[in-house]
Amino acid sequence: MKLGKFFEKHRIRGIRATWLKNFVLVSVILVSVVSLAAGLLVRWYYYNAVSMAIESLDTNLVQNYFSSYLNTTEEQFESGALRFIEEFSEKDKMEVWVINEKGEPIVTSSGFGISDDPVMPDYVDVFSSADEVGKWTGKNEYGEKVMALTIPIENPQNGEYTSKAAIRYIVSLEDIESQLLVIYLYIFIAAVIIIGIVFVSGRYFISSIVNPVEELSKTVNKVATGDYTARVNYKEGNDEIHSLCSNINSMLEEISGMDRMKNDFISTISHEIRTPLTAVKGWGETLLQIGDKDPVMLQKGLEVIISESGRLSELVEELLDFSRMQNGALKMKKEKIDILAELDETVFVFRDRSVREGIDFVYTAPEEPAPMFGDPNRLKQVFTNVLDNALKYTEQGGKVTVNAVIVPDGYLNIYFVDTGCGISPEDLPKVKEKFYKTSINYRGSGIGLAVADEIIKLHDGEIKIASVLGEGTTVKIILPLEKVQQALSESEKE
Ligand code: ADP
Repeated sequence: MKLGKFFEKHRIRGIRATWLKNFVLVSVILVSVVSLAAGLLVRWYYYNAVSMAIESLDTNLVQNYFSSYLNTTEEQFESGALRFIEEFSEKDKMEVWVINEKGEPIVTSSGFGISDDPVMPDYVDVFSSADEVGKWTGKNEYGEKVMALTIPIENPQNGEYTSKAAIRYIVSLEDIESQLLVIYLYIFIAAVIIIGIVFVSGRYFISSIVNPVEELSKTVNKVATGDYTARVNYKEGNDEIHSLCSNINSMLEEISGMDRMKNDFISTISHEIRTPLTAVKGWGETLLQIGDKDPVMLQKGLEVIISESGRLSELVEELLDFSRMQNGALKMKKEKIDILAELDETVFVFRDRSVREGIDFVYTAPEEPAPMFGDPNRLKQVFTNVLDNALKYTEQGGKVTVNAVIVPDGYLNIYFVDTGCGISPEDLPKVKEKFYKTSINYRGSGIGLAVADEIIKLHDGEIKIASVLGEGTTVKIILPLEKVQQALSESEKE
């Protein structure tokens, strides 16, 4: 079966397949080659040790010993051979044969007989190649693996031997072969263990990448079908993959937040547009019917139409501000102002309204001026929004207090306290978010506080809101005065 089909059958795809094909396959080949080389090296080492043991025998001694037996009778040669074997000291390590002048092995140190047709290529070699030493490794006539070395008894004269007599040393390799088999087995086991470790650790490593990537892909697919609640499910860790998963989850959090904002925007704004439009349309139709027959109704109708259109323009202004804020284009036209004078002006407008709405209104502020660099219109817009909320969410008979305090560290704190409906602890952290409204029963786009917060931040200030449901709300605006602003801009420059 082809590798590709095998992978397909076992559902091994993508990075796993590439890893299996490249890394594991290469590791298997590499470990096999190294194991084979190690096996061959050990074999060479053992064989070399045997070979050196045979080659280290003193051949001159043999030739000296037998020189007096050459050209004697067969019996004399044989008795000389028997004595040589008796005196041979390495009998326990190797077998030694004496071969007579006719080329027949006549005595052996093994104590056993010699077969009629012995396999001895080393002997044949030594006379055919005039090489003085013949060496051979192979299987003898009994199928036993041996290493043999033949030394001619006579020194060659002009490369020719007159006698075929020789001494043959034979070492059995059977013990070595069985030892080698055990070593091969160890090498094989070590290779399997190494490949196993490579495979298991690699699989773990690949899974630690592939699993989160698969999870990422699943999540992205869900998001692509419009499910912004999908999140990447991953185990905690501190590598790049985990930080990618965590970043994608943060991004999805942002996207779902924006999706929620879009939905809030559509529902809030359509509601906010529909209410004044209904009023304008209703009064328009009524006025069309009554004409100028009822001047009081006409007056009232026109007033409603004007105020509702004014509300629509305010809404459009708020939306434009919001859009500028989103694009980072909410620019402040800052100049040196007395911020308390701006607050006075705004409060003045709301005092009348609170009287109209039957809400007790208290305003206290220091006499001294509070100089700062700021955009007077934008800051008035913030006070208007906060005061509008305080009155809007406070019932008749309630109380709204505005209290400005210059604190010694150079900040102006303005407290807008109302005894209105209050905000629940769950809603409180979200009221500064865009389009967030705690109830659709009140009119409002849900943008006011978000824009106010941005404007105050652009003046290096802060808006803090505290509230108890059913008891009332306190909005605290903190603004840095001129001295602090100068220090801030200097430290920014540095
Ligand atoms: P809106 O134009 O709807 O008032 P804001 O951004 O000004 O929008 O306010 C966001 C929400 O915060 C309001 O919908 C209201 O639920 C809550 N909120 C703000 N000020 C007050 C307040 N003084 N008392 C009670 N709830 C308030």
